[in-house]
Amino acid sequence: MSKQTKYIFVTGGVLSSLGKGIAAASIGTLLKNANLKVSILKADPYINVDPGTMSPLEHGEVFVTDDGAETDLDLGHYERFLDENLSQNNNFTTGRVYSAVIEKERRGDYLGKTIQVIPHIVGEIVDRIKKAGEGNDILIVEIGGTVGDIEGLPFLEAIRALRTEVGRKNAMNIHLTLVPFIKVAGELKTKPTQHSVGELRRIGITPDMIICRSEMPLNRELKDKIALSCGVEKNCVIESADSTSIYQIPLAFLKQDILTPIAETLELGKLTPDMQNWDSLVKRIIAPTGETTIAFVGKYIDLKESYKSLTESIIHAGANLDAKINLKWVDSEKVEKDNVNEILKDVDGVLVAGGFGERGVSGKILAIQFARENKKPYLGICLGMQLALIEFARNVLKLQDANSIEFNENCENPIIYLIDSFIDAHGKEQIRTHKSPLGGTMRLGAYECNVKPNSILSKIYSNQKVIKERHRHRYEANPKYKESFEKNGLMISGTSNGLIETVELKDHPFFIGVQFHPEFTSRLTKPNPTILGFIKSSIENAK
Ligand code: GLN
Repeated sequence: MSKQTKYIFVTGGVLSSLGKGIAAASIGTLLKNANLKVSILKADPYINVDPGTMSPLEHGEVFVTDDGAETDLDLGHYERFLDENLSQNNNFTTGRVYSAVIEKERRGDYLGKTIQVIPHIVGEIVDRIKKAGEGNDILIVEIGGTVGDIEGLPFLEAIRALRTEVGRKNAMNIHLTLVPFIKVAGELKTKPTQHSVGELRRIGITPDMIICRSEMPLNRELKDKIALSCGVEKNCVIESADSTSIYQIPLAFLKQDILTPIAETLELGKLTPDMQNWDSLVKRIIAPTGETTIAFVGKYIDLKESYKSLTESIIHAGANLDAKINLKWVDSEKVEKDNVNEILKDVDGVLVAGGFGERGVSGKILAIQFARENKKPYLGICLGMQLALIEFARNVLKLQDANSIEFNENCENPIIYLIDSFIDAHGKEQIRTHKSPLGGTMRLGAYECNVKPNSILSKIYSNQKVIKERHRHRYEANPKYKESFEKNGLMISGTSNGLIETVELKDHPFFIGVQFHPEFTSRLTKPNPTILGFIKSSIENAK
């Protein structure tokens, strides 16, 4: 018999955006560093089948896994904290669950039975949780949303039932709530926590531990009051006060000895995590020695959540290089010919990230031209690489109408174009059925990239011949222009199955465009080489 996976269920109360994902990931980090095999799952009660088609304005970033699943941004936090590659099994939604059940019903799998939320929908959720846990000592299961949401009920019923099935020593419930500070009373208030726990109990779930989000630390008396009123042990009330960096949270939990009650409940024996490396990286996030300023040129400037992985990967690079990275957010729609110098003259590096649609593109191209001509370190990611090629084609090759067919389907020089078929992350050929730009299937997930020796790419990846990074795009660089690019000083340094994956300038200290998204594989303890290389050259440029 295979070993029993133990489950830690994390639910949230009072309100959303309390950082349940970070709390779950922090617990996972401690357990992993105590030598347990840990995985983590996010179950999202919303109806969309996956976040792939959700607006970045509403949902933040779409995080892409190695196997090409478009997932919730919390999976990014999980990977960054746990340093594990997750897959499509680690995130599912109500929409996904219903689709699967309806598909089975149509196939006749239920032999004519009436299909109901209990047992069929709940059963499907339980099966998916078990599948994500296979082969692990611990699976942390974060239930999206807040207790009391109508659509969350089947998920809560699933974790209630699963705990009963596997027994008390194999599963525990952690509930995260808000302990607000009420200014006029000058007090932290526990009532919302009590209500939220009451709501959980009503549906049959008793929390074993309560994590209290608050603006400030909770004193012993308050913690004991919560323990008493919510019926948990005194050492099971853990505070999670606002902190400078999210990476401090595992350390703050450890200080409160969070692992002792977890180990007792789940009978895990004595756990002593080694957090030394993590601790020294966090110290350098909080009080770094060096400093550099990067211009982040983009259009979702007010919605930094949609660049979560990228901003985190920059923090990882800063921690590893012992430098503070100031991000200067530049709204690309406001960049024009006569202000680009003024906007960018004092920055040490220019970054143009991924994006969709034409809005803000001309400002990004001006920023790229500025970086190329003024020899400022440049990193272009996905759209940022495509635009670097368009800029070069227009201003160096003098192809005035060079463009991407995403922005002009009929342009005469389609530097960025659409290919008819490609191999997907599972090795299957995908034929594009739609010719229209939005209908095209996306190239998603991790692909190998062959690295040209003696290139910037080769240098930053320590002379590795083949690297692997993740993708999320429809369009490709057109190989038709390869020769004229190379003759004029723009080198193709990375390729994959004939596709152009990276480009760089020969006569420039650091100018690189990558079709992949390096930010998806960056972790605090293992910063991504592309991001690290760019930040390093910006720090050197600052000197
Ligand atoms: N819009 C471009 C494409 O689809 C770039 C996508 C991206 O930057 N993620 O190819």
